[in-house]
Amino acid sequence: MSGNTAASSSAVALPCPECGTRVLWAAQSVYRPFCSRRCQLLDLGAWADESHRIRGEPAMDEADIDGLLREADRDAPLS
Ligand SMILES: [Zn+2]
Repeated sequence: MSGNTAASSSAVALPCPECGTRVLWAAQSVYRPFCSRRCQLLDLGAWADESHRIRGEPAMDEADIDGLLREADRDAPLS
């Protein structure tokens, strides 16, 4: 038997519960069992969604509007 594959090493990789990407079960994988922060947040959002149930239009933040206004202000030449 000489068909040893590199996959059968001591490293363990489990599929991300969100997207199925293999996540190396090691200290470097800080978001495990998720593959990335994105998947972690997606999973959190999945159950947080049940209490909000807001789907569709993305609500505009007041802070966003504030930032846009400030930017527009800066662009406008003061005279
Ligand atoms: Zn993932």
